[in-house]
Parts: sequence; C-alpha cells; structure tokens
Amino acid sequence: MRIKNQNKLQRFGELQQARVIALFSLVGLSITFLMMCFALLNNDTPLALCLLSASAIYGLAFYWVKNKGKVKLSSYIIIYSLYILMLYLVYTGGVASTGPLWIFIVPPVSLYVHGLKKGLLNIAIFVSLTCLIMFFPHSVYAQDIYPFEFKLRLLYSFLTISFLSALYEFSRNELYNNALELNQKLHKLAHFDELTGLHNRRDAQLKLNQNIAVFNPEQRFSILLCDIDYFKLVNDKYGHGAGDLVLVKISEVFQRTKNQTDYVSRWGGEEFLFILPQTDQIEAFEVAERLRSAVFEQSVSLDDEDIKVTISIGVKEYHMGLSVDQLINDADKALYEAKKLGRNRSISAA
Ligand code: GH3
Ligand code: MG
Ligand code: MG
Repeated sequence: MRIKNQNKLQRFGELQQARVIALFSLVGLSITFLMMCFALLNNDTPLALCLLSASAIYGLAFYWVKNKGKVKLSSYIIIYSLYILMLYLVYTGGVASTGPLWIFIVPPVSLYVHGLKKGLLNIAIFVSLTCLIMFFPHSVYAQDIYPFEFKLRLLYSFLTISFLSALYEFSRNELYNNALELNQKLHKLAHFDELTGLHNRRDAQLKLNQNIAVFNPEQRFSILLCDIDYFKLVNDKYGHGAGDLVLVKISEVFQRTKNQTDYVSRWGGEEFLFILPQTDQIEAFEVAERLRSAVFEQSVSLDDEDIKVTISIGVKEYHMGLSVDQLINDADKALYEAKKLGRNRSISAA
C-alpha cells in the first residue's frame, strides 16, 4: 500500500512533466513559427526553412506527448532540436546578428528535461560548442560577426543563468524529495501502528470494507479477533515499558506464524484483528490455534525474568449481507466466550 501511495505522487510528477513538455512544444512551435515569418520578411530563406523545420518538429513532439503519451521521446526531441537550432542561430547570427540572444532558453529547459546532473553535462557540451563557434570563427567559418566583448558578455551571462537555473533545479529536487518523504511519513502514521509496525485499526477497517465491497462466495474470508489474556497484570507487575515490549514480541510472533496472504492489524490496546483471505471458518480456527500455540510457546526476556502470556481468539467467517460491525460483533462474542471459558483458547462464532 505504501508503494501504491508513493506511486501516486510519482504519477502526479509524471503527469505534471507531460503537461510541461506539451507546453514547451507549443511555445516552441509558436515562437519558431513567428520567427520564420520574420525571417521570410527579411528574405532569409535558409533561416526560414530551418525555423519551419524546428516548428514542425515541435508540432510533432506536441502530438506525441498529447496523443501517444510519449513524454520522454517528446522531451528529447524538443531538447536536441533546441540545441541544434540554437547552435545554428549562433553560427549564422540569425536576424541582424541577434540569434545568440535565444541561447538563454537552454539552461532552464535542459535542467528541467534532463534533471540536474545530465542537464549540467548537456549545458557544458552546449556551451563548449557555442564557444568553439564564436571564439574560433576563422577556423570554423569565414565571417566573424560578433564583437569580442559581446561574445564574452554573452558567455558570462549564459554561465550566470546556468548557475541560477541549476540552483533552482536543485531546490526543486530538494522540495520534491522532502514532499515524498513527508508523504511516506504521513502515510505510515495514517495506516500503521507506531509501536508494533502492524497495520492500525483505521487501515483494518478500510481493508474490511474493501473485502466486503467485492465479496463473492468464491472469495470467502474469515476474521480472528485476538486479545492478550490478563495483560493488565503484565503492566502492573513489570511496568508499562515491559508491556510494550510484550506487544512488540507478540506482533513478531504473529508476523512469523500467519500465512503470507493473511493480514494482521493492531485493533486496539492489546487486541489484534486478522483477516484471512480464501479461508472458511474451519480453516480459520486452525490458523487461530496455530497462532495461539506459537504465543504460548514464546516467552519475552526482560532482565532476568521470562514473561509468558497467552491469547484468546474469536473466529468468524464472513457471510453475505453482514456489515463490518456485525462481523466484528460476532467475533467479539466468540472472544468473550473464550475468556469466559478460562482464556488461552480459540472459539468459533455461531
Ligand atoms: P483479559 O484477559 O480479560 O483481556 O484481561 P486484560 O488484563 O488483558 O484486560 P484489560 O482490558 O483489563 O486490560 C488491558 C490492558 O492493556 C489495560 C491497558 O493498560 C493495557 N494496554 C493497552 N494498550 C497498551 C499499550 O500500548 N501498552 C501497554 N503497555 N499496555 C497497554
Ligand atoms: Mg482487551
Ligand atoms: Mg486482554
């Protein structure tokens, strides 16, 4: 159940990422299309063609993420076509040598798409290629279109934006991880008992309701209501701390002895509720006796003393039409009967 809950948060993160990638593609499509119109007005056909291709690629990425749910593929298409377009703009200068101004998009988008480590690596490769194009123009191509000071300032400001974007991404990650951790803690508190680590009463009630909601005669199940005998005496004699230790040890015995598919919860103070799937009343009684014997044989060592306790158990198979309260009531009556008959025994409900 914990994994299911964690998955919910991760699923939310994935949906959020799909939305952002779709938005990136739409923004990319609109901007490159608009820039293509300007390039056409400037009679710059190669740039217009390049921007048209980029626009089409962004359109394709939008289609894939929206209709096919291919978030990773779309994000890779967006990011690598963005790198190519940016390098092309730096190389050619774009409209009136303003092309390099667009490279500031690269750090935030890279870090969002790739995450901190891979994002920074990609930015480093991108900035190296940009420097190669700008600072060694004669070795790469003939014209030197940017003044040296412009190139230097562009590089400084790009590195500053990269640093700030990395810082932002780092805090975003931290916040996400904290939220994930907090979510796990809250989930644990809501569904598990702090002392024994077993499921708590609230969780058991949910589980019973679920079982009843999907009940059909082929999916029969039984419950065991189990109570430690004379537990108050343990507290009185050895102290509350020792009582807690006994509760923990008995819970361990239950975990060890029950079948793997059986569910055990701490129903209240020293009461435990088991849900046994695919188990009729007779089989449930056998499980109850197995648990009872296991507890009977166990002793809890405390300093020089061995504390021994016994348990009494009420057994009840679920029948169509019973409510959770009626089911528990019937098991409780059987448990009461077991106490009345002298404790350390299992009794099947009528
Ligand atoms: P019976 O055989 O009839 O069940 O007798 P009992 O003494 O077990 O029953 P009773 O209901 O009189 O006492 C239950 C005791 O369980 C009283 C309470 O102090 C103790 N208890 C409940 N929760 C805890 C807990 O978390 N830790 C400890 N140490 N004791 C607890
Ligand atoms: Mg009790
Ligand atoms: Mg008791």
